[in-house]
Amino acid sequence: MILRARAVVTMDGPPIENGAVAISGDRIVDVGRFDEVKTRNLDTVVDLGEQALLPGLINAHCHLDYTCLRRKIPRQKSFTDWIRAINSEKSKLTPEDYVASINEGFAEAKRFGTTTIVNLTAFPELIRQLPDMPIRTWWYAELIDVRSPDRTNELVDSAIELLKSAQNYGLGPHAPFTASENLYRRCEEAGEGMLLTTHLAESREEMEMFCHASGPLYEFMKSIGRDMRDCGHRTPLALFIGASDAGSAPARRAPAQWLVAHLNELTENDFGLLGKMKTKFHVVHSPRSHRYFGHGRFQSERLHKLGFNICLGTDSLASNVSLSLFAEMRAFRCTQPEISPEKILEMVTVNPASALHQPNLLGRIRPGFRADLIAIPCRDRGDRFGEIVAFDGNVDWIMVNGRTQGFD
Ligand SMILES: [Zn+2]
Repeated sequence: MILRARAVVTMDGPPIENGAVAISGDRIVDVGRFDEVKTRNLDTVVDLGEQALLPGLINAHCHLDYTCLRRKIPRQKSFTDWIRAINSEKSKLTPEDYVASINEGFAEAKRFGTTTIVNLTAFPELIRQLPDMPIRTWWYAELIDVRSPDRTNELVDSAIELLKSAQNYGLGPHAPFTASENLYRRCEEAGEGMLLTTHLAESREEMEMFCHASGPLYEFMKSIGRDMRDCGHRTPLALFIGASDAGSAPARRAPAQWLVAHLNELTENDFGLLGKMKTKFHVVHSPRSHRYFGHGRFQSERLHKLGFNICLGTDSLASNVSLSLFAEMRAFRCTQPEISPEKILEMVTVNPASALHQPNLLGRIRPGFRADLIAIPCRDRGDRFGEIVAFDGNVDWIMVNGRTQGFD
């Protein structure tokens, strides 16, 4: 099949005007100007008309478990109060509610042009109950051992067993305040190349807890029986990368396996540690969830200059209102107008493809890559990247793995 469109945005240089993409099975086999592609491939032509054809978007951080919590939790005075509020909402949900929530989330993500999603789930046992995923999914088991630090090994082993029913998976020790260092280590040792994710340095309260052994999060975690001996010494970042008290930065065993969410709270010393890391981890920022919590400015350019690969994600609907990555790109552009729309689009295509160790399969329109594509309306001519980042609507045409998807 040959798909012709007004513009083909390959993410390999400028968009191709009057372009085309040839698809065979689940792969892209050719891309270029329509006349050239047509000459090289004797195949049926599907003309998408005045549309920009681009790689399907990749959501690098999301919790579909909580799709049903949209607008259920108003903004709280503190991050700790939000944790209390989500815990209270979760206590009302049944496994059936979670399955419905995940399915609803998949449908919504797809409607907004997402073809790959990094989904953290607190319930890996539910994966088996789900029908075939409508989009490409990396399942990460979100792991917390704060209430049972003596059962960490068991927790990791059983999560891996449950994840095996998924095609792509990884492990996600939740955050340094809920997951022990032992849990982080066990996850790193769980397998060669195992993908890993965590939440880090998200709030001022997390910083206060680890640096000063005080504040609302410190008091809350202490009240539930957490061992607080790691507090009062180091920043969350220093703790995560295993920096010694002398300030040197021995990186985690395999930083490139980590996709780290947030990094909102970083000290000057933290930036020094990040600069010293030889191999960098990947970073995911959620602009609208960030705004909901009122965190300090996300230091995207500084992290980028230090060599960190920055991706965007929606986070869950317990702190956001939709699963649209277009809305995340628009929100990001509002706060960081100095970053070009092309660079912003990379944060939902090329960059997360690298974070998932799929740089040669996902995130671009290039021969040999998976045929994961979307089309959105575009003008006759103009700034294609600017137009895409400003797009505000549903995506009516989507292809996953070479198959055009319908909408229910
Ligand atoms: Zn999250």
